[in-house]
Amino acid sequence: MIIANWKCNGNKAMINEWTNNFLSNYIETKKAFIGIAPPSIYIESLLGTKLNKLEEINIGSQDIDISSGARTGAISSEMILDFDCKFSIIGHSERRQLFNERNDEIKQKILKIAKKTITILCIGETLEENKNELTRDVLKKQLEVVKDIELNNSLVIAYEPVWAIGTGNTPTPNNINEIHKFIKDVVQSTSDNSAFPLVLYGGSVNQDNAESFFKEKFIDGALIGGASLDGKKFANIINIFNGTK
Ligand code: PEP
Repeated sequence: MIIANWKCNGNKAMINEWTNNFLSNYIETKKAFIGIAPPSIYIESLLGTKLNKLEEINIGSQDIDISSGARTGAISSEMILDFDCKFSIIGHSERRQLFNERNDEIKQKILKIAKKTITILCIGETLEENKNELTRDVLKKQLEVVKDIELNNSLVIAYEPVWAIGTGNTPTPNNINEIHKFIKDVVQSTSDNSAFPLVLYGGSVNQDNAESFFKEKFIDGALIGGASLDGKKFANIINIFNGTK
């Protein structure tokens, strides 16, 4: 599974150029589930492009709100399901840091879409927590949001160390692999029905380092920010994934 998170980037012209660059570089196979999460206002534009005709390409949202109603600026789970979004990213570190999202809100969001569409739950430690060897404790705490929820295979976890996002720094592939195994074990032992989730890695993945990550057993794919803004680079990373897994 390879997911593009465009964050608050892009416009109509970019979508056109991106689509052309992607399609002329992507080697078509149905292997990887490919997701694109544009800013919500562009979801409909992407649904209307040639991209959406490829079965393996799925359009999703970068977030949802905890409810509908008098919540100016928000987008509800019902709305993304109305647009047939195939996944939603929940709990991204930018939402936690810039919008003060807490674990209890994140849990409410998961409950809104659990079993209806794929939830990509982002977790990750800060640099300071990493240096203080608190990574596993922090991840365990963040994973409490899935405790006692009955999940099916619609839950995907993205391990995104905050210090690796957009910095060019990454843990070693072996470190990530060990953390992914840990995450799978924690989810399996705490969710109501022992779900064993796919775990994606996110943080400065690019065309040059992607293969080293995808070779690892417990790295099931990637969540990509910066490199996903270029259709050619994003297609190349998917080609590498399909050639490695
Ligand atoms: C992200 O923000 O989810 C991310 C992984 O960003 P980048 O690839 O730019 O590090």
